[in-house]
Amino acid sequence: MASEVSEASVVSRLNGVLQEIKAAAGRCGRHPADITLIAVSKTFAADAIRPVLEAGQRVFGENRVQEATDKWPALRAEYEDLVLHLIGPLQTNKVRQAVALFDVIHSVDRLKLAQALKDECERQGRSVRCLVQVNTGAEPQKSGILPDQLDDFIGQCRDRIGLEIAGGMCLPPVNENPALHFALLEKLARRNGLSELSMGMSHDFETAIELGASMVRIGSAIFGPRDE
Ligand SMILES: *Cc1c(COP(=O)(O)O)cnc(C)c1O
Repeated sequence: MASEVSEASVVSRLNGVLQEIKAAAGRCGRHPADITLIAVSKTFAADAIRPVLEAGQRVFGENRVQEATDKWPALRAEYEDLVLHLIGPLQTNKVRQAVALFDVIHSVDRLKLAQALKDECERQGRSVRCLVQVNTGAEPQKSGILPDQLDDFIGQCRDRIGLEIAGGMCLPPVNENPALHFALLEKLARRNGLSELSMGMSHDFETAIELGASMVRIGSAIFGPRDE
C-alpha cells in the first residue's frame, strides 16, 4: 500500500533529522536537548502528520492561522502535550484565533501586532511566547524588524506594551550565505538578552545549530517536498 510506504519514509526522515541535529550539536559542544525541532507541517493534512505524532514528535510549526485552525484542534484532542508554533506572518484580525491555538509566535514584526497580542493574551488568560522576526537581509519584500531598529522595538514591546519578547527569528535571503544572517541574529539577540534563536530550515539547520539556534524549523526534510 502506497500510504504505508510513505508513512515509513516520513518516520525514517524524522529520525534522520533528529540524528543530524544531535550530530551537529555534538560537533560544536552543544547539548541536543537545548535545540528544539519544530516539524513544519504546513500544507500537509492530518493523515501525513499522524505518523510523525505516533513516532513521538510533539512540536509542530504552521505558517497560516486558518489552515492550522482547521487541522490542529482535532489532533490536540488526541495529543494533549502538543506544542504549536506559528512561523508565518500574522494579521491583527487573526490574533484572536492565533492566541487560542498557538503556544509560540515567531512573527511579531510591528508594535500594533505586539499590542494586539498583549491584549488578546490578557483577554483569553493565555500566555503565548513571542519571538520577533528580524529582517536580517533588509529585504524590502520581506517582513520583520530591521536590525538597526530592533533594540528600540524590543524596548517598546517590553516597557510600553508589557509584552515580553523571548527571542528572535530570521529567514535569510535565498541567495546569500545563511551563516552571516544567523550570526547577526545571534549577536542582536545576545545584545538584547533574548534566549531563543529560531533559525535554520531543511537546507541550513546544521549551520544554524553551530551558530546558536535554539529552535530549528524543518519541513521538507521530514514531510517531503510541498506542492504549494
Ligand atoms: C516553510 C517554512 C519553513 C520550513 O522550510 P523547509 O525548507 O521545508 O524546511 C521554515 N520556516 C518558515 C518561516 C517557513 O515558512
